[in-house]
Amino acid sequence: MMAQYLALKAEAGDCLLFYRMGDFFELFFDDAKQAAQILDIALTSRGEHMGVPIPMCGVPVHSAEGYLARLIKAGCRVAIAEQVETPEEAKRRGGSKALVARDIVRFVTAGTLTEEALLEPRRANVLAAVCEVRGTCGIAACDISTGRMALEDCEPGRLGAALARLGATEIVAPDGWTACPLDGIPRPASTFTSDGGEARLKAVHGVSTLDGFGQFSRAMLAAAGGLIAYLDHVGRGKLPLLLPPVVLGQAAHLAMDEATRGSLEILVSSQGTRKGSLVEALDRCVTGAGARQLAEDLAAPLTDAGTIEARLDLVQWLYDDALLRGDLRAVLRAAPDVGRALGRIVAGRGSPRDLGQLRDGLAEARRIHDHLQHRQDRPALMDALLPVLAGHGALVDLFSRALVPSPPTERNQGGYIAEGYDHALDELRRISGDARRAIAALEAKYRDQTGIAALKVRHNGVLGYFIEVPAAKADPLMAPDSGFTHRQTMAGAVRFNAVALHAEASRIAEAGGHALAAEEAHFEELVGVAVKASQAIAATAAALARIDVAAALAERAAEGGWARPDVVEEACLDVKGGRHPVVEAALASKGERFVANDCRLLPQDRLWLVGGPNMGGKSTFLRQNALIVLLAQAGSFVPAEAARIGLVDRLFSRVGASDNLARGRSTFMVEMVETAAILAQATERSFVILDEVGRGTSTYDGLALAWAVVEAVHGVNKCRCLFATHYHELARLAESCEALSLHHVRAREWKGDLVLLHEVAEGPADRSYGLAVAKLAGVPAPVVARAKAVLERLEKGRAETGGLAAGLGDLPLFAAAAEARADLVDSLRDRLRGLDVDALSPREALDLLYELKREA
Ligand code: ADP
Repeated sequence: MMAQYLALKAEAGDCLLFYRMGDFFELFFDDAKQAAQILDIALTSRGEHMGVPIPMCGVPVHSAEGYLARLIKAGCRVAIAEQVETPEEAKRRGGSKALVARDIVRFVTAGTLTEEALLEPRRANVLAAVCEVRGTCGIAACDISTGRMALEDCEPGRLGAALARLGATEIVAPDGWTACPLDGIPRPASTFTSDGGEARLKAVHGVSTLDGFGQFSRAMLAAAGGLIAYLDHVGRGKLPLLLPPVVLGQAAHLAMDEATRGSLEILVSSQGTRKGSLVEALDRCVTGAGARQLAEDLAAPLTDAGTIEARLDLVQWLYDDALLRGDLRAVLRAAPDVGRALGRIVAGRGSPRDLGQLRDGLAEARRIHDHLQHRQDRPALMDALLPVLAGHGALVDLFSRALVPSPPTERNQGGYIAEGYDHALDELRRISGDARRAIAALEAKYRDQTGIAALKVRHNGVLGYFIEVPAAKADPLMAPDSGFTHRQTMAGAVRFNAVALHAEASRIAEAGGHALAAEEAHFEELVGVAVKASQAIAATAAALARIDVAAALAERAAEGGWARPDVVEEACLDVKGGRHPVVEAALASKGERFVANDCRLLPQDRLWLVGGPNMGGKSTFLRQNALIVLLAQAGSFVPAEAARIGLVDRLFSRVGASDNLARGRSTFMVEMVETAAILAQATERSFVILDEVGRGTSTYDGLALAWAVVEAVHGVNKCRCLFATHYHELARLAESCEALSLHHVRAREWKGDLVLLHEVAEGPADRSYGLAVAKLAGVPAPVVARAKAVLERLEKGRAETGGLAAGLGDLPLFAAAAEARADLVDSLRDRLRGLDVDALSPREALDLLYELKREA
């Protein structure tokens, strides 16, 4: 057995091996140690290997799914080795001591799940393959639970951002790709070739050319090759549902890097949860597929005005017609997850219930089609979706006739094919039904015959049908001519068989066996029908999801008083009464009110410096505007009274280092790396929010960096930008930067207490209120008082020297001269310090003054 185990383990590689033994999956050696720790189950041992006890743990087969889910969550991959023959077959093959043959039947990995129990209904599950071909990275991504597949190209430097957008849960990459910028699972490099990829795609879709699907680069094809080869490997030759690939162009999507996604908390909050994220505050979808589509839309907002308008038109239509919206949502709510049921069916893991879900979901789609067909005022996107909703009439009809109303998830008991569908099957069922009734009749007959009222006919898995009487009454039945044969003596009861009972039982068994086989054949047939129609079914599922998203966005907009954004080409960002959907919801749950704020970035006033006290609402203001852009370009209404938004090509969000301490690298370093990325990438069409840049270092360094960054964003990148800072000194930039203006969040001191108004107003912040915030936060009064005294001293000193930024106002932009000037100041200072004034004669002092004046 160990030899068999070790051979399978070699095949499983770095996956944990679930080794089937009877009713358990057992794990051995290091697998056992790792699994026992993650699952918190007992680690035991069994036998010895090379003189050392073998660590072992196991999980029951019937509850394996839950354990698998936890292992996958913990980042493991699992190979499942099943018994592929029965013990009887093994004995027949190799004698009484023969070992049951086992084989790895599949691999369970985070990116290749299809089981309902292991998938989150409201999240897509993306597997990605990446590789590099002549300096270009190819990405192939798919969600095998629904079959969607996308290909794209990108520069190596953008790979991280692209994968962040796709949100891949598992990534594979060629073995030996040394420059691979991430931790992929290594796969044979030979599977990542463009020729191989093209051949595999053609084979999957049964086409002789890929032209019908679009134009694919060599890098895309190579990545597709690696992806399909991996799927082939984990499915042991059985490929999951794969729809024709779509090409994702970089330009079609609003570019956001990983740091931006993280700081905007789009799909997960900074705590790593869905709670507190944008998607959670937005999601009113009534189906899992809708929620997945919404997350995808938010992760990849559009940049094409036409497509955005088409989505907005659909949302508007459903926003205006609350009745229609309600009707659609009611129908959708009842519809099962067609896409995922189809995914399981095509992967060969479908159940009768999945077939039932296809039937019911497609029937609901049809209902929606019929409901909308007569509407004259349909927007263009709905027109395009409508035909996709109908067209499965024959399949729905067939499945309705073939399947019982709620088919079971298990096949082995049968009972899912409806009566009237197959007469031979009905006949078999009638026979076993008759036999069951006959057995019931036999019970009465045997009671009469023996006079034992407590006699019962019973059934179990070992004996089949048998007669049971209390032990005290069993003697007469033991007699050789009684007509009963003894089977088993229990404590208190004795069990018998009888000829007539045996005959009826055989009838049941035989008819039952045939019935099961007949149902099984029908099942395969129906699966075949579904697989054949899989592309059309997937399209219907996608259409349902799109409608759900639009209705949900309309619902959300109606609920929150949101407005349709006006998407324009001009580089403006004009938001009236904007709000932050997540902060607003959090405040509302505490009964507090969110203060709406305007933002008005225009080509001639495109950079706002936002000052004001900590906790005053600066970050919130910055982020709400970034989110409004993101929502608008994803095709959603926005939390504002009105918004005019010039299309954004790239969105950047950076928060000061101390706001995200949990990231390992020196936080200031992270901040600077991220800032460098913005300065390198932001264009005149980009929108950037920078929150407290420079806060991660000393005051002088920080101020200097913030100053220089603002100048560069204003003068070089020329993008729209909101820049929050607590450096008052930056206000002087308004003198030299003509498209920059000053704003602040308002606060007031009232009876010695600080009142934060959360209102964004024009003009520079008057003071910092840091001590008032400290008091608000509960810093002890003596400490605040002491700080006040220190502050007074500092401010007095500052007033005397002209302040921290004295003289910065006339710094030439980006000039080496600035450096030279600093050197001069230093040398002057050194000389003055070294001077003994008392030792100078009046004449010498006068000469020195002339000299200094000349140098300056
Ligand atoms: P800052 O960046 O200025 O330190 P934040 O944006 O982090 O301030 O806001 C601090 C807190 O103030 C938030 O957690 C929120 O509770 C509250 N807040 C911010 N903006 C508003 C607003 N517009 N209306 C009401 N409360 C707000």
